[in-house]
Amino acid sequence: MDLRLEGVSKRFGDVLAVDRLDLTIEEGEFFTLLGPSGCGKTTILRIVAGFETPDTGRVVFDADDITDRSPQRRGFGMVFQNYALFPHLSVFENVAFGLRARRLPADQLRERVARALALVHLDRFGDRRVQQLSGGQQQRIALARALAIEPPLLLLDEPLSNLDATLRERTRTELRLLLKEIGITALFVTHDQEEAFDLSDRVAVLREGRLRQVGTPHELYKRPADRFVAGFVGKATLLTGLLEQHEADVLVRLDSGAAWRACETAGQAIGQRVEVVVRPEELELSRVPDSASDLTGKVIDVRYLGSFTSYRVELPDGQLIEVAAPAGRADEGEEVGLHPTPDTRLHALPLREP
Ligand code: ATP
Repeated sequence: MDLRLEGVSKRFGDVLAVDRLDLTIEEGEFFTLLGPSGCGKTTILRIVAGFETPDTGRVVFDADDITDRSPQRRGFGMVFQNYALFPHLSVFENVAFGLRARRLPADQLRERVARALALVHLDRFGDRRVQQLSGGQQQRIALARALAIEPPLLLLDEPLSNLDATLRERTRTELRLLLKEIGITALFVTHDQEEAFDLSDRVAVLREGRLRQVGTPHELYKRPADRFVAGFVGKATLLTGLLEQHEADVLVRLDSGAAWRACETAGQAIGQRVEVVVRPEELELSRVPDSASDLTGKVIDVRYLGSFTSYRVELPDGQLIEVAAPAGRADEGEEVGLHPTPDTRLHALPLREP
């Protein structure tokens, strides 16, 4: 029961909210749409739910074209940012809502509600009013309501964004464990990269209605398809250089002269100018720069962040580069050398993008 979007576009006046989107979400997968505000994530989710009709393209679920099917007949579970619970109804009635619409016999209905509440660990809260619950509990009720109908697909639109930071992280962990336990297929929308990485099997990165890359969190971080993905998914500095082959190694000869190891996948671009993506944890600092293999720069900012320290280094051309390293490696104002950690192979992007 996979979900496929084929050539889906949606325009609102002058805005092309979704631009020829092709996407397949596999059965049992936790799949996330990630991108900045306005990139079309919610519109895609609404198209999948059946609240919007695409201008072009098809939505296919379990080999059926459901593009023109009503939201009710699709029967997907939905959880929204604002929970959309009924404040005047009890927790039980909120969770039972979708089941009543399906005219389930009373005993089955009670059993399904109880099971859904047990899944979110709120089995003793059935009689409470929704207003008597905390934000995190309300979010779990919204999830229970969506799960009670035993949907073949669960749609989640920024469901954690109303929670404070601590609760958000805890609820995120619970959500991940719960959905994996049920094995449900889920399509999740967020603009928060950390949340996307924590929860997802695969992530689609979108910008201005267009798909930029689909991959596992690891693939997106280590092999971003372009500058936008590199910068949106974690911190990155881009350094320009020329790709060279040295025996078994592909090296990038930086404009400063230092030669650093690049991924073997860059090998096909030998002799070409590229940009390499450098992540903060891929670099080391040294107080005594090696003029042949190091980039040199001046530490302009040192921030102790607990598990690591963040050093901002200004290169001679004014470019800033961030290094995550143990505390005490350098002080503000100090001239330092930078080089990759021994096992780092840098990811290279073509220098000019369309
Ligand atoms: P956010 O993270 O801010 O919710 P998003 O990525 O979910 O953003 P969408 O809500 O899908 O983005 O919106 C995509 C674009 O389409 C935006 O420019 C938005 O203003 C526009 N848009 C969405 N819905 C409508 C509508 N009903 N009428 C007009 N424009 C719309």
